Amino acid sequence: MNGEMSWLDNFVRPKIRALVSKKELPDNLWRKCPNCGQMIFHRELEHNLSVCHYCKHHMRLGVTRRLEVLFDDGEYRVIELPEAVHDPLRFRDRKRYSDRLKQAQSGSTASDAAVVAHGRMGGMDVVVAAFDFSFMGGSMGVAVGEALVRASRLAVVQEAPLIVIPASGGARMQEGILSLMQMPRTVIAAEEVKEAGLPYIAVLTDPTTGGVSASFAMLGDIAIAEPQAVIGFAGARVIQDTIREKLPEGFQRSEYLLEHGMVDMVVQRDELRDTLIRILRLLRNPTPAAEVVALPQPETEDAAQEEAPASAEPEPEARPSAEAADEGTPAQP
Ligand SMILES: [Zn+2]
Repeated sequence: MNGEMSWLDNFVRPKIRALVSKKELPDNLWRKCPNCGQMIFHRELEHNLSVCHYCKHHMRLGVTRRLEVLFDDGEYRVIELPEAVHDPLRFRDRKRYSDRLKQAQSGSTASDAAVVAHGRMGGMDVVVAAFDFSFMGGSMGVAVGEALVRASRLAVVQEAPLIVIPASGGARMQEGILSLMQMPRTVIAAEEVKEAGLPYIAVLTDPTTGGVSASFAMLGDIAIAEPQAVIGFAGARVIQDTIREKLPEGFQRSEYLLEHGMVDMVVQRDELRDTLIRILRLLRNPTPAAEVVALPQPETEDAAQEEAPASAEPEPEARPSAEAADEGTPAQP
């Protein structure tokens, strides 16, 4: 009897379940928006680049889709990265680090948390280093540092701008001090691009924290952030507990950082590609598109007063600004 039961349980039931479930709809067809709670059909969510169309909440976007959306016609090439040292400290917590790595690699097309791709954007050559948050929280170890270095070298060789798109919880603690060493390493990588006179642009996505935010991520010539992304060094709770003060609303979010001058712009995901192309065009082709026409010489004070009666009623509100403008003009020789 016992044997029969286990045979039923172990063999027959899974078989039946497998047969039935094939015809059933998989339960991941709908996703609940973590912000507004609406259920969104997966195809719609994919079409909207993982942005909730009810409340515009930006969910995390996979690295493949991210690259596909940015490059012209979705075409790009991923470069092969050199194999980094695996598990240098033979680290083990509840699991061996080497096992964690293998598990992450089996669920990914990449060998670690950063992917380097190149292709064209608005007809311009660009190199992109993008993070895969689903790979061990996008944590930065030796392999990710290596990816950033390769990306910067590729940009320099191709004389192309480098766009970095972090999505990371910070340094990979399983690699200890070696992961921290990736901070100066990636800073140097970013510097190499800048020294070559090439644009270095950071697109900060949710989350950009820890050692990643404290290194290459914050060095963009232009720092763009996705809406509502968490960007900061230490977690809000840690800071709150340390300073024993309530943190302001929206602390460590893109919009707060924009208000306080830490990022240059907050851009919706569906406008990101066009925005990047516009910025790159401005940075790459500084010559104006039209003929430069000299501005007319500013009128002398007398001439301005003579012309004043032309308007029916002098506008009192207009005066202070006009005076301010006069004070601002440099004295004529
Ligand atoms: Zn929503």
